[in-house]
Amino acid sequence: MSNTDFALAVEDLTVSFDGFKAIDALTLYIDRNELRVIIGPNGAGKTTLLDLICGKTRASGGSIKFKNTELTRMAEHQRVRLGIGRKFQTPSIYENLSVFQNLEVSFPAGRSVFGALAFKCTDEVRARVRAVAQDVGLIDKLDIEAGLLSHGQKQWLEIGMLLMQEPELLMLDEPIAGMSARERELTAELLLRICKNRAVIVIEHDMEFVRRIAHKVTVMHQGKILAEGPMEQVQADSRVIDVYLGH
Ligand code: ADP
Ligand code: MG
Repeated sequence: MSNTDFALAVEDLTVSFDGFKAIDALTLYIDRNELRVIIGPNGAGKTTLLDLICGKTRASGGSIKFKNTELTRMAEHQRVRLGIGRKFQTPSIYENLSVFQNLEVSFPAGRSVFGALAFKCTDEVRARVRAVAQDVGLIDKLDIEAGLLSHGQKQWLEIGMLLMQEPELLMLDEPIAGMSARERELTAELLLRICKNRAVIVIEHDMEFVRRIAHKVTVMHQGKILAEGPMEQVQADSRVIDVYLGH
């Protein structure tokens, strides 16, 4: 497979914060329709890697190619337009709007939340909202005020808001933190469903969850990749046990 066939090709990526290399010459390839999980101890550089891919942080060196387009000098909003979606740890939903409205304002036509009040909802947008709500398990909650949703449902709503943009790469940082066992199970099903149409990168600590969803696991340590492969292989790796799984 040539490098152009990947959804994402990260090569020799480095970022220094005052001389400290949070990401150190890291190389990583993600296939289209792959669900990759990144694990590793606190401070390994996992969140920083997502920051670099989405453009929140600028790389000091190396390359990030998305569908063979170089991203490193591109602004964050341009990367969104190219098809990169990023979910942060705390959900950013509009608590006072309904689930429907939250999804509607996320439609890429780019209306502000205030402009949405005057917006005449087209059939196209309405159909997309319903399809996405179905995907994230909120089809019965469309008229509910988002602030009244459970913690887990808020997380799914935010994933839905990202899906409204039809991203080809979706990145999620610790999506099941604070969720109940049932919500975790539903989130696993949700992620397995949505990676059929796109590449997904998930950072997660819960090993049961990782085992359930990962196509492949990347283990990060000190800004580098320590191990990469199927869950069983990574779990049996003595270096991984030493720096992470053993604790
Ligand atoms: P992880 O998500 O794997 O726990 P992070 O990517 O958050 O790790 O952090 C990796 C390292 O980089 C940590 O030592 C952290 O303190 C440092 N770091 C992250 N962002 C910045 C920043 N903007 N400025 C300085 N140091 C940072
Ligand atoms: Mg982190």
